[in-house]
Amino acid sequence: MTQQQAKASYDAQDLWQKDKNHFIHPFTDFSLFHEKGCDLITDSDGIYVEDVHGNRFIDGIAGLWCVNVGHGRAEIGQAMAEQATRMAYFSTFNNLSNAPATELAAKLAELAPAHLNHVFFSCGGSTANDATIRLVHYYFNRLGKPTKKRILSRTNAYHGTTYMAASLTGIASNNWQFDTLDLVTHLSEANCYRRPEGMSEAEYCDHLVDELEQTIERLGADNIAAFIAEPIMGAGGVLVAPQGYHSRVQAICRANEILFIADEVVTGFGRLGHFFASEAVFDTQPDIINVAKGLSSGYAPLGATLISDDLYAVLSTPQGPGGVLSTGFTYSGHPVSCAAALKNIEIIEREGICENVLEVGPYLESQLKTLASHETVGDIRGSHFMMAIENVANKTTKALLPVEARVGDRVAAEAQKRGLIIRPVGHLNIISPPLIWTRQVVDDVVAILDEAFAATTRSLK
Ligand code: PLP
Repeated sequence: MTQQQAKASYDAQDLWQKDKNHFIHPFTDFSLFHEKGCDLITDSDGIYVEDVHGNRFIDGIAGLWCVNVGHGRAEIGQAMAEQATRMAYFSTFNNLSNAPATELAAKLAELAPAHLNHVFFSCGGSTANDATIRLVHYYFNRLGKPTKKRILSRTNAYHGTTYMAASLTGIASNNWQFDTLDLVTHLSEANCYRRPEGMSEAEYCDHLVDELEQTIERLGADNIAAFIAEPIMGAGGVLVAPQGYHSRVQAICRANEILFIADEVVTGFGRLGHFFASEAVFDTQPDIINVAKGLSSGYAPLGATLISDDLYAVLSTPQGPGGVLSTGFTYSGHPVSCAAALKNIEIIEREGICENVLEVGPYLESQLKTLASHETVGDIRGSHFMMAIENVANKTTKALLPVEARVGDRVAAEAQKRGLIIRPVGHLNIISPPLIWTRQVVDDVVAILDEAFAATTRSLK
């Protein structure tokens, strides 16, 4: 690892115990946690992370779909340190601003599709989505259309876990025994692998579009404010919609004065080979694009909502006396996070990281597909550096293994034993690496996965 000499050493047992006693981990299965506690990741460098015991792993999930430029980038650390010592924090409320936030807003406007020129900063993906829905409701209130409130989302969508974002989320298990807000209607996910038997992809697209039209008919366009979707559904299973789906949905939304929101928290900042996938890959011009994660490559918490000129024209109309745009966070436009994001974007551009994804991404896809012969591998899908493998009990019927088999966990554990971290999500395994993987890394990873799937099959006998 770089800067070995400067590293503090940790007391592994002490940390493990403190963590077990005090840290409530997000998305944690307590039946496992009470028994095993945590795995402490303490170090990182490039495509690698290292645990507290000195075991080194290839990071196959970019932290959590976010460390796009890879780990240990000293120049991002320096930019953050310089900003933190020069002016760590000051408010951006009212008419106050700071240099990194201003520069970043302008840079995002430059990179985004031409009509998205206005940026509202938040603290991550959930808060970006939450702030967006508030702004959308405010927009329609200001237009004198206060009944336009309902948001269309999709089954298995993931949009975060603040109350509104969790309500947009359509993964049933995510909201198990949690409450949600009655502001959202979920349409079907676009799942080509599990589409109705005998339906072609084109017919499936028609079927999904019909559902949208019928839903608008049923709810009334006057009651619907927006449709929100990830260009490729991420945590819900890396689901790539049928060809033409997003642009057809957008056209219907436009015809019904329903705003089209793209949640590019995962797909943005290079994962599909472009800063924004909406226009470049999916031929859509969203009214709003939300980003987080790769925006700062996870070096600091940050989210942003990119807003069209048309929306801004309404949002920025002066309120009545005493009124302000009453939404925002203490950390909206946090200078240290924005400094990290600016340096991150500079690296993506300077090193041609999007170009690397366009070159290595198809190779990753084709090499992962060589794993199809394994007994549990039902589907290998995704695009570029956003991939998933769906495990099944039977490839013909696509029946799933029993939940208790924990097949995703098994594959991930077998991979980890062999030096690779991938993410288990139920019966799926997700691969969403830092965007600096080379073809050689892909070969090493696929060799590990080949062994991991073989070992999983043996362990299930
Ligand atoms: N939107 C999408 C598409 C995501 O994948 C995520 C997180 O994985 C979020 C929103 C929520 O982001 P955060 O965890 O930063 O709140």
